[in-house]
Amino acid sequence: MSWITVIWSAASGMCLTLAAMHLPLRNSAPRPWQNLSFVLMVLAVICLGGCELMTLYADSPKTYSTGVRWGHVFYGFWVAAGLGFVHFSFGTGRAWLFLCALGLRFFAVLLNFLTGESLHFKEVTAIESVIFLGEEVAIAGEWIANPWVRLGQLAALAQVVYVIDASLRLWRTGSPERRRHALLVGGSIVFFVLVAAGHAGLVAAGITRTPLLVCFPFFSLMLVIGYDMSREVRRAARVSSDLEKSERRLALAASAAGLALWEWHTGTDRIWVSKDGREIYGVAEDEEVHFSRFLATVHEDDRTAVESAVRDSIQGRAPFAAEYRIVLRDGGVRWVAAVGRVERDEYAGSDLLRGVSMDVTGRKLAELENARQNRELSHLSRVGLLGELAGSLAHELNQPLAAILSNSQVGRRSLAHESPDLVEMGAILDDVIADTKRAGGIVHGMRAMFKKDSLPGLEPLDLNHVVTEVLTLLKSEIVSRRARVEFFSGGELPAVNASRIELQQVLINLVLNALDAIRGVAGVAGVAGVVLLTTCEDGAVQLIVKDDGPGISPEMEARLFEPFATSKENGLGLGLSISRGIVTRFGGELELVGEEGWRGAIFRLSLPAVR
Ligand code: ADP
Repeated sequence: MSWITVIWSAASGMCLTLAAMHLPLRNSAPRPWQNLSFVLMVLAVICLGGCELMTLYADSPKTYSTGVRWGHVFYGFWVAAGLGFVHFSFGTGRAWLFLCALGLRFFAVLLNFLTGESLHFKEVTAIESVIFLGEEVAIAGEWIANPWVRLGQLAALAQVVYVIDASLRLWRTGSPERRRHALLVGGSIVFFVLVAAGHAGLVAAGITRTPLLVCFPFFSLMLVIGYDMSREVRRAARVSSDLEKSERRLALAASAAGLALWEWHTGTDRIWVSKDGREIYGVAEDEEVHFSRFLATVHEDDRTAVESAVRDSIQGRAPFAAEYRIVLRDGGVRWVAAVGRVERDEYAGSDLLRGVSMDVTGRKLAELENARQNRELSHLSRVGLLGELAGSLAHELNQPLAAILSNSQVGRRSLAHESPDLVEMGAILDDVIADTKRAGGIVHGMRAMFKKDSLPGLEPLDLNHVVTEVLTLLKSEIVSRRARVEFFSGGELPAVNASRIELQQVLINLVLNALDAIRGVAGVAGVAGVVLLTTCEDGAVQLIVKDDGPGISPEMEARLFEPFATSKENGLGLGLSISRGIVTRFGGELELVGEEGWRGAIFRLSLPAVR
């Protein structure tokens, strides 16, 4: 049995196994080019081994030279793949050194063909045989050395410098794992390249009379690098198992919290949705989801808003947040709240929107319900106010009715004359019409306030006009309380967006509270008063309601806008809380403000001016 054949075959077989192991791993490896370079290095070394076998068993100087020449070619491949390996695996090599080493090796391979039989031998004129591993093998006997071999040596030097420099830079990153990598891989490349180049140099110079055995240092090098890469594979396997465990924990936690996890890869337009997410969105488990499919699940009234929220977050790389309805296959509707974040998917070179969604149908229904109850309460409070005003409203209504009655009686009597005064009759009828309109206006206003329907829509209103309407409605009340109410209108104001009835309700509340507060207070010149003032400041239309009552105690001030906070014997404590709710819905504010030296209460209502 030939030991040479066994050893070369075993070494090649081992290297081939390494290549076969790492080739499929390149798809899932963190640095796929590194794996590919390694595989190419291994294949080049196997071919180099084959060329060496050719020189060992050469039966003529020509065959020997051919083996050396092609050995240089595969060595050139090995160098190129090795430089690539260091470049991709270290990531720290200098580009110009890389190009320099690659270029020199390329020229060395070129000169290997152009300057003689090979880069080492200009010409081999005779071969000799020596005993190696118990067998007769060929070595160069007589030859003319090729001076261009110096270029090959320079190329090897450049390669070594590149690897040393890249290793030192990797070492300086400080991470223990990288230092180990730099030492093991960088160190062994430098060591084995020098060993191989040194050995080949000694053989070519005729100093040692042994066969050319450069492939062995490279076989060993492949084993060292293969070992180092297998550590990386083991680490990747451990990380992947840890990841799998943490993914399972996350999925469990998300499922317990009823959360849907999702990821939208904008580059491929693919959406990954967790199992619970598919249930929430009503998407089958095996169905592929794209953005258009997701949008199709969204209620058509919410689609534009969702689309623009997604677009804004992608363009501005801002957080994504939206609440929308989705329509299920059975036609049912589900409310979903979603939040997400845009990230850069470096691997795919595109954006990635990752987030969670939650079924909030229950909360949404409660919020609807809540709004309905608020409307009921607001209506009840309005009715309560009217009840409070019943006496003065009846009196207010009585006045035009009494006027109509007396005017009608006068008219009746005029008609009894032989020649009734038609001019006077016309004037009487005009009065009757005016009074009827006035009574009708009061009844209309009351009916509107009594009415219980869905929240009235918002419309542009003139605040001065609404104040005047309210003061007309409260006229009898103010008179019966012997109060002084003054209104200073701030001239022509921009309109505000509000619902007339509700704005009236707020104003009646404020004025009645002020009238209550000044009850029994002496006030200026014996008459306590209330002042209403409208202004427009900083794009907001304001109404100040100021009274010279006793003011509000600190305890009451702390709870002023809370429901059921009252200091009155028959009070409900709902007026201010409902009023603030209404004003907030109009986008405005209702607050208590202070004024230096003023004891009484001052409320400020401000509403955004309509442009
Ligand atoms: P209610 O009038 O039924 O008490 P409100 O919410 O309208 O309910 O008012 C809550 C409380 O705020 C009143 O009981 C009163 O103590 C206080 N308050 C409101 N306006 C004034 C005011 N102008 N002057 C003094 N106290 C006031």
